[in-house]
Amino acid sequence: MIHQSLNWGVIANRVPPVSEDRESVRRATALIAALVGVWAAAEGAVFGFRVFRRAVRIGIGFARFWYAAGTLQLLRRCPDCRRLIVRDARVCRHCGWRHTV
Ligand SMILES: [Zn+2]
Repeated sequence: MIHQSLNWGVIANRVPPVSEDRESVRRATALIAALVGVWAAAEGAVFGFRVFRRAVRIGIGFARFWYAAGTLQLLRRCPDCRRLIVRDARVCRHCGWRHTV
């Protein structure tokens, strides 16, 4: 019992004053806020990069489509049934001809 009461006394002496405790809580809150801010910034950067990459891919596809349409390379004739199919097509949608190789 005496030993325990002595320990309690030591712990009571180590408890910091209220103002210092509030300061540490404020610092911890600021640290957490800073970490959350850094995390949000990183997440936003990743999301923005993905959106940018997707926009670039859509833009490239758009440019390729209009380049092909403008230079009359969008369509070609199927070697089997001579009807128009998309130039990049590997299968004819009319007769089922398949591009081999
Ligand atoms: Zn065909």
